Amino acid sequence: MNDPARFLAVLAEASRRALGLSPFEVQTQAVLRLLEGDVIQMDTGEGKTLVGAMAATGFGLMGKSVHCVTVNEYLARRDAAWMSPLVEFFGLSVAHIEESMTAGERRKAYGCDVVYAPVSEIGFDVLRDQLITSRDQAVQQGADIALVDEADSVLVDEALVPLVLAGNEPGAAPSGRITDVVSKLKEDTHFAIDSDQRNAFLTDQGARKVEQMLGIDSLYAEPHVGTTLVQVNLALHARAMLTRDVHYIVRDGKVALIDTAKGRVAELQRWPDGVQAAVEAKEGLAVTEGGRILDTITLQALMGRYPQVCGMTGTAVEATDQLRQFYNLRVSVIPRNQENQRFDEAHRIYATAADKYEAIVEEIALMHERGRPVLVGTQDVSESELLANRLQELGVQVSVLNAKNDEEEAKIIAEAGDVGRVTVSTQMAGRGTDIKLGGTSEADREQVLALGGLAVIGTSLHRSKRLDQQLRGRAGRQGDPGSSVFFVSLEDDVVTVGGAGESVTANPQADGRIEDKRVRDFIEHCQRVTEGQLLEIHSQTWKYNKLLADQRVIIDERRAKLLDSDAALGMCRDHNPEKARALVEEYGEAHVLQACREIVLYFLDQGWSEHLALMDDVRESIHLRAIARETPIDEFHRIAVREFKELANNAMSDAMAAFDTVVIDAQGARLEASGLPRPSATWTYMVSDNPLSGSGNSVIQGIGAIFR
Ligand code: ADP
Repeated sequence: MNDPARFLAVLAEASRRALGLSPFEVQTQAVLRLLEGDVIQMDTGEGKTLVGAMAATGFGLMGKSVHCVTVNEYLARRDAAWMSPLVEFFGLSVAHIEESMTAGERRKAYGCDVVYAPVSEIGFDVLRDQLITSRDQAVQQGADIALVDEADSVLVDEALVPLVLAGNEPGAAPSGRITDVVSKLKEDTHFAIDSDQRNAFLTDQGARKVEQMLGIDSLYAEPHVGTTLVQVNLALHARAMLTRDVHYIVRDGKVALIDTAKGRVAELQRWPDGVQAAVEAKEGLAVTEGGRILDTITLQALMGRYPQVCGMTGTAVEATDQLRQFYNLRVSVIPRNQENQRFDEAHRIYATAADKYEAIVEEIALMHERGRPVLVGTQDVSESELLANRLQELGVQVSVLNAKNDEEEAKIIAEAGDVGRVTVSTQMAGRGTDIKLGGTSEADREQVLALGGLAVIGTSLHRSKRLDQQLRGRAGRQGDPGSSVFFVSLEDDVVTVGGAGESVTANPQADGRIEDKRVRDFIEHCQRVTEGQLLEIHSQTWKYNKLLADQRVIIDERRAKLLDSDAALGMCRDHNPEKARALVEEYGEAHVLQACREIVLYFLDQGWSEHLALMDDVRESIHLRAIARETPIDEFHRIAVREFKELANNAMSDAMAAFDTVVIDAQGARLEASGLPRPSATWTYMVSDNPLSGSGNSVIQGIGAIFR
């Protein structure tokens, strides 16, 4: 790209010819920033899809391979279909990835210059590729660039969500007796919930009650510390922190998680095994087994694999600190093509949640009467439903976005700007749809313009201002008129959690409304506190993940060496020259090499999986160590480093011992016959313990205790 201006002009001309879209100047500017490796902030509706595709094409023309990372499959499919004429205009190849694809189809798709793919699928493919036993099984070959759509969502909000690959081997389940005992405990007497709503813990009296009911001496002494106590805590967490129809639903005799932030059934998600089993036990369901975790990766570690990351979002500025701290990325703000006409009203503050709800319902009904479209953003599914019911009682037709599939939701959202529409939805990130005034056909555009455009109403503040901005951004696209307002009550989570102990006195009006600068300032302060908490949790949690991510890289380097060289055969030769020589004579070197590879990789992978399980236990029990005055993170590191050293040595010596006994014949190494089966089936899921989710949905055990 010696001459950027010319380069960009060529891309723009291609867009005109291939897509019929003439890029605006600000779009070309955004493309340049992406090519320079920034995260760009561009408002909703300003045309990020085109910008991303032009940048991807630009990278492609420089000979680089690009993964365009999306938050879901629907967007990957849509963007690839929409933008492929531009990429192909230059003879570059483009494809997308979706869940139902076979390994062969994926391999072909990943072979393209530009690949649109959901972040979860990319992660699962990385995990599966880390278990292959010969190179030709790999579906990915990595890419030079990750161009991340909804960058703040992927890189910050969801950064620590682990993607998991599990194999079919049963795990342990907690006993029904413990669930029973815990169900008899009383809140506040036997257990308490800490002020930030992240943890439930036993009081002294509660511990005594449990000990008495179980007929044991002390929960906090051997042999109960690592076993019974962990199970009691899990059962308590399931009972006190996870509420049916808020955090999960029971469907067909199974627990289905609700992603409270996004407000839908999270098909792919499970809680960490112990929690999942504890909830199943609480509901009296058959305990399903998660299987052995073979490998796991967080989105943050996944992004760390790319030599270069860049991204785009409507709300990057508020994530500047995180993007710099965790990814060393800069944020570039791209001006709007047309001036913003959206009116952001100051928060409307109420004393109680009840007053606030009255006011919200009244406001929506009023707008609706005039025919003005309203988009309401709620905190979770149950709130959406409550609100929708109230409105329906008043005769207001409401579309609720809950637990449906992305494509259907996109269709509903697309119509949210039509006359008289009321749409209620939880978090907006990833519902990447353009809300045109007057509906998708724009037939009633003039009428909606006259009414003031789309009105966005937030039913409470999010834990970070950025999430508020994401919601606001849905109104006022491309210079349209619009408005946004948030309703807040002094009883809201953000205020009680962020205010922790502090409070303000206020004199509400008859309807509960508070107009007081001090209260306004206090609420801003509370939100800044919760923002700070999220950042702190992120950096602390990342410290735990980072070490394991680094260790995974070392394992992967070893695997690569075993896959791409004859090292495995060399080891076996050194260990047992006679057997190696005889086998090579009979079956040829290539065949024996592959057999040796499979044996060595088996033990390496097994060792890694055991390491993960062990470190998971350490992490879960480490807050107990904190009580013993050890610094948890140092202790965690010490154990991780010590165990990892053993891992490789043990794997190699076990592998050599196995080479002596495992039968190698024309079929290869008969591992299974020697009781060493590779998992015959694997499946993937996301663990729903995102410590950064703003909705208090965290189930990381003891996280509050560690970070307080
Ligand atoms: P964003 O992802 O930034 O919210 P989209 O990529 O969905 O926005 O684009 C919003 C709308 O703007 C789409 O309907 C798209 O076709 C249109 N659009 C984008 N760029 C241009 C352009 N240069 N000229 C005309 N329309 C455009």
